[in-house]
Amino acid sequence: MTVGTERALGAHRVLEPRGVLPQAALRLDADPAIGPDEVRIAVQRLNLDAASFRQLTEACGGDGAAVRSAVLSIVRTRGKMQNPVTGSGGMLIGVVDAVGESSPLGLAVGDRVATLVSLTLTPLRITDDLAGWDGRSEQVPAEGTAILFARSIAAVLPGDLPDAVSLAVLDVCGAPAATARVVQRTGARSVVVLGAAGKSGCLSLAAARAAGATTLTGLVRDDREAVALAAAGLADRVVVADATDPLAVAAAVREPAEATIVCVDVPGAEHGAILATADGGTVVFFSMATSFAQAALGAEGMAADVTMLVGNGYTPGHAAMALELYRSNAGVRALIDPRVHA
Ligand code: NAP
Repeated sequence: MTVGTERALGAHRVLEPRGVLPQAALRLDADPAIGPDEVRIAVQRLNLDAASFRQLTEACGGDGAAVRSAVLSIVRTRGKMQNPVTGSGGMLIGVVDAVGESSPLGLAVGDRVATLVSLTLTPLRITDDLAGWDGRSEQVPAEGTAILFARSIAAVLPGDLPDAVSLAVLDVCGAPAATARVVQRTGARSVVVLGAAGKSGCLSLAAARAAGATTLTGLVRDDREAVALAAAGLADRVVVADATDPLAVAAAVREPAEATIVCVDVPGAEHGAILATADGGTVVFFSMATSFAQAALGAEGMAADVTMLVGNGYTPGHAAMALELYRSNAGVRALIDPRVHA
């Protein structure tokens, strides 16, 4: 690998262990001084990944101050926000405040941006002790600096939406893009979404519809979410089941679908998702709480002939697509807005 490629991927910021890329690193160098190919962002707000925030909240017994301490400790220790249990991060918004002379990202000082690369690989320094955050929401007002590499991606924030909404939608923009791609490429007409009333779940339902799917089933956790999802009008059928109970999922879904999208933020949804999927169908595991072993060995053990895809957070055009689904779809807005704490 050339020095240029190594720098573009951020390998020069890895402190430990040597030889890995930033996402797999234990510790990054979060020094705010930038190299010629880097961009520095003055951080305004973090969006913690849903699986990570849930895990931290549960581990801290719901104590917001303890969650805040845990996040601060992770960032100080690791030079990035990567939950050591879930392995996941989130993303951030802020203002570009320095651009190296050879950065290819096309950003200018003063641009208001959302990073579209994970916090798990973004050098991050927090300078305000997260004093403005009560530890009880995924969105974290924060001051500090973050570094983008030559091969990072960022989106200029749209002027017509509140920052908190853009942040929430962009964090999960890979899910609707992956859903649309699967529906278009496989011609799937029936789609089941697990965790359908959540942010990525409702966007995935809307994306499946827009891509041509005709039979949409939304699986939710309880009657309250069922009422909200039914009112949003995004699914043809709404069913209630615990996504971590495979037999309950199979019974609720009844007719296995040609594509299943896993958008819950808890571990243990792999086997239900496989049972919800018809032979020859496709499962997209967007959830960061997914276990590769559970999915692979579970499918083998059920002799299930399904294609299983890891939900890559990046697909070309994913950010614009997700924002457009939000703008154009009242049902999506009705489900996402109450989850966003401005
Ligand atoms: P979210 O808005 O919190 O939605 C998750 C939904 O799943 C919620 O409606 C939740 O219900 C529901 N749920 C939780 N446990 C359930 C269960 N046992 N049975 C049925 N439903 C259940 O989360 P999100 O922001 O959309 O994120 C969803 C997942 O995507 C997370 O795992 C996150 O880590 C992952 N993610 C992946 C990427 C990627 O690049 N692949 C990027 C960002 C996020 P309640 O609200 O009632 O708990």
